[in-house]
Amino acid sequence: MSTTGIEAGVGAHPGIGGAPVSHRPLGILAALPQELGDLIEAMRAESGVRTITHGQRDYHLGTVHGASCVVTLARVGKVAAAATVSALIHAFDVEAVVFTGVAGGVGAEVRVGDIVVANALLQHDLDASPLFPRFEVPLLGVSRFAADASLADRLAAACERFVAEEGTAAAERFGTREPRVHRGLIISGDQFVASATGVQALRDALPDALAVEMEGAAIAQVCYEYGVPCAVVRTISDTADDHAPGSFVSFLTEIAGTYSNAILKRFLESRGSPA
Ligand code: SAH
Repeated sequence: MSTTGIEAGVGAHPGIGGAPVSHRPLGILAALPQELGDLIEAMRAESGVRTITHGQRDYHLGTVHGASCVVTLARVGKVAAAATVSALIHAFDVEAVVFTGVAGGVGAEVRVGDIVVANALLQHDLDASPLFPRFEVPLLGVSRFAADASLADRLAAACERFVAEEGTAAAERFGTREPRVHRGLIISGDQFVASATGVQALRDALPDALAVEMEGAAIAQVCYEYGVPCAVVRTISDTADDHAPGSFVSFLTEIAGTYSNAILKRFLESRGSPA
């Protein structure tokens, strides 16, 4: 696409010995500003930020924690997330996509303050049965979209380092238990799940689901269709029950940014510049 004017100079080009060198940036997404923490400020301090508005979203380009990135907000829900990640792929030519945000805990062992890194993502509200199996994306034949294994491993390693180095302090500061890092299935749908019956219905239908949110599986589907690696990390803001609205709001405003800063810093530093 020519609308952004960023295509020149972006993409693979011959490097030493003629081998292609990728200068493609990493796409970093969240739904809400609090979920990005201070990432854009850190980018501004490190490299300066170039902001391009496209499809009613602001895309921030620059280097942060040593990595070339495009950072943006998807807003809430599967359509918003799919539209945004599609733009990251087509207008900004990202090499891979990482989503960071909060989610409701669904798994029995998943508590507020824990972290879930997706191995796979599924749309729990997608149901074209009896024409297609429940949860399967019609005509694609997939219900569970795998996260990129090496990207998810590096994200989980960054989370583990955060917990080892700052987990006790975070738990004391926020009055949560010592955070744990879980890996497994994250489910997405266009509902904020906020009732004991609602979360139990999800557990019954999908016993291995660890967390529920509103964007991840849509991003994973688009990335799957275009062959772009993606990974999703979610901090647990609530347990998707009747306490969820209050728990979500206080976690989002008081805690989410601290977690996001700590995890993304470690992840991006370990990744370095894709060049
Ligand atoms: N704009 C509103 C609503 C946010 S909806 C606000 O700011 O208050 C909740 C967001 O957090 C979504 O992006 C979703 O991905 C995630 N989330 C957290 N807890 C959730 C839950 N219990 N059910 C569904 N999504 C949840």
